[in-house]
Amino acid sequence: MTTAGPTACLLSTGEEVLRGEILDSNNHWLAQTLGARGFQVQLMLTAGDRRADLAFALGAALERADWLFMSGGLGPTDDDLTTAVVAEVAGVGLEFHEPSWAAIQERFRRANLEAGANNRKQAFFPQGARVLPNPQGTAPGFALRCVRAGAAKTIVALPGPPRELQPMLLAYLDEIAPRRAAADGDLFIRFLGLGESQLSERLELWSRVWGPVSFRQAFPELEVKLYQPAPDQARALREFAHRELADCVLDFSAASVVELRGAFLRETGRTLALAESCTGGLAAKLVTDAAGSSAYFVGGVVSYANAVKEQLLGVEPGVLAAEGAVSEPVAVQMAHGARARLGADLGLSFTGIAGPDGGSAEKPVGTVWMAKADAAGCVARRFQLGQSRERIRQAAVAHGFRWLLEDWLAARRRRVLAGD
Ligand code: ATP
Ligand code: MG
Repeated sequence: MTTAGPTACLLSTGEEVLRGEILDSNNHWLAQTLGARGFQVQLMLTAGDRRADLAFALGAALERADWLFMSGGLGPTDDDLTTAVVAEVAGVGLEFHEPSWAAIQERFRRANLEAGANNRKQAFFPQGARVLPNPQGTAPGFALRCVRAGAAKTIVALPGPPRELQPMLLAYLDEIAPRRAAADGDLFIRFLGLGESQLSERLELWSRVWGPVSFRQAFPELEVKLYQPAPDQARALREFAHRELADCVLDFSAASVVELRGAFLRETGRTLALAESCTGGLAAKLVTDAAGSSAYFVGGVVSYANAVKEQLLGVEPGVLAAEGAVSEPVAVQMAHGARARLGADLGLSFTGIAGPDGGSAEKPVGTVWMAKADAAGCVARRFQLGQSRERIRQAAVAHGFRWLLEDWLAARRRRVLAGD
């Protein structure tokens, strides 16, 4: 650990969590999010809907940490005890919060319903608490400061449903510790070609020394983020990614591979032509999503039928018959044809099996051959991607772009490392 941030304890509540009926994703998400914001999470607890257990867990947590983040039990029913037990443990009464009651009633009115007496319970908070609004649901959360054994503590009570809890906590964290923009020192690194759990495993050696990172999925890419890292921590993560994760790291920024491809073509002044089969024009769509792409994008051919591959791209019928449309020589001839016939510096082709049908033992669904052609020649590569049709197509385009730029990306990362 580099920084000694405030200590935190997490407490999820609810019988369904305790009995294993639902997976405790709240504590998992809270640990990740708070860790990335500099909190040192020391304990994770779960208590059921019994007063005595909740009070015990609360007391234990407050003994160990400065902050306690609770989830669940803010609903209108009798088993929702969080507010009452927090007030009891903190030694304060409950007070009615008129604006929350108005918001709850308004929410019901919009759904053509009437808020009941039970819901009124959700407008009571421990005295002195700061109410955290809940735009996604009825139950507001709250943050309560109290003193235990001479030390200041803060209890943050959040609703159980993740879609309510997450925006509420993020808004609260932004308020208490405003996040500065990326330019002000947050570190982003983009990856492609592996999932969150795989990446987290491969980062484990680094995390053991430097602490956790937070992840954000932007399929098919994955973003790793460190909030306000110390310079040596940021440098260590970049070096680790460059050295140990060379097969999947994209860039030391939040830029997607589509954006990077635009930067690559603009910077190198080269033009691009595409030949697409299984991606059905998705690559061309993503290239032309960027305003100004006419500066480097010549055009593309969506050559779904063999006849179109032959007539528009010059793929040889004999090769198609002998090797099949999803094959190395066909990918090569498509890339070469696109480049030569459309008059571009670079040609990139995609031919694969997006499924759900059409796979075989030799070429299962997800097999994609790609080729890239330039003045020096043409190279092809086979990729095995994804499960579903849509994901295979999206991943194919992302991997194709990454492969097209790989040398440029590596040089770009080395420049950043040299400046570190
Ligand atoms: P509600 O007003 O919906 O009752 P609440 O704040 O009282 O909200 P709970 O009753 O404890 O929260 O949980 C409501 C739902 O939120 C659960 O049924 C479950 O779907 C989800 N949930 C609760 N706790 C967790 C958790 N730890 N991890 C993931 N989901 C959770
Ligand atoms: Mg509830």
